[in-house]
Amino acid sequence: MEVNPRPYTGPRKAAIGQAQLWEIEEIAELRPLSAMTADQALVASLPRWMFPTYVDAEMQFDIVTRSWILIHEGRVIVIDPCTGNGRDFPDHPPAHMLDTPYIERFEATGIRVTDVDFVFCTHLHMDHCGWNTTLRGGRFVPTFPNAQYILMRQEMDRWDPRRPGHVPVPQNAGTFENSVLPVLEAGLARIVDGHHTICTGAEIEPSFGHTIGHSSLHLSSGGQEAYFVGDVFHHPLEMVAPGLDDCTSENFALLRETRQRLIDIAVRDRALIVPAHFRCPFGGHLHSNDDGLVFEPYAWQPESAIPG
Ligand SMILES: [Zn+2]
Repeated sequence: MEVNPRPYTGPRKAAIGQAQLWEIEEIAELRPLSAMTADQALVASLPRWMFPTYVDAEMQFDIVTRSWILIHEGRVIVIDPCTGNGRDFPDHPPAHMLDTPYIERFEATGIRVTDVDFVFCTHLHMDHCGWNTTLRGGRFVPTFPNAQYILMRQEMDRWDPRRPGHVPVPQNAGTFENSVLPVLEAGLARIVDGHHTICTGAEIEPSFGHTIGHSSLHLSSGGQEAYFVGDVFHHPLEMVAPGLDDCTSENFALLRETRQRLIDIAVRDRALIVPAHFRCPFGGHLHSNDDGLVFEPYAWQPESAIPG
């Protein structure tokens, strides 16, 4: 597995309606497509639009760990704060004891960590909530001291190791204690159930399956709709074959329903789908033609064309 296969080119910016979006990359990995599926017929039928961005000549694909900074209605919302530095993940070397310039990359946008109003974790896997906190003086403390952290109750119940009947997952060991508990103890958590409005045009909506309480952020701005869907899709292959089970979900039957529902919404409403881990261009529109589903990567605009 190759780590950081491509040079870092700085934070990338896009506009969605009136909202501004920054992408902050933490790490990237190159993985073989065979890790997703052994179905040779499916691999042989891959649509041409996947090449070379989402499947390269060596039949590999990028998995990027990143955060979004969404500026909407005057609010700064961070979505999925990556892995974090100094975390012990010996079973997953690309994330083990990271020492990345994530905060420097974040603040290179001109947005400071103290400017953040809300933090939203689609779920509480280690690569989606790590930078909730920062290791300082031997303690994990909230990275965004002025933010409210929006956390799904089902995820809190699922991952709190203090609860009776807790079922641990080795790959996620320590995440709740290091990345969630300090936020609770600082009084910065807003624990929500099901649908929740962050502010006008920014709604949290259930997208269960990958984990028990996995949820998405639905943005409506300037006549455009976008869904930040976390790990509902790891690769566009799961859009053309939503029944593909890579065995990383807690409830695959539910995930499959969620995928189909989001695909249908995207096609019907011309909504932008923004998964967590796709290689840039990281989000896109979906439409159907005679050859099946087509993912049209969302065009980055030149920075000069983006207001603000
Ligand atoms: Zn993930």
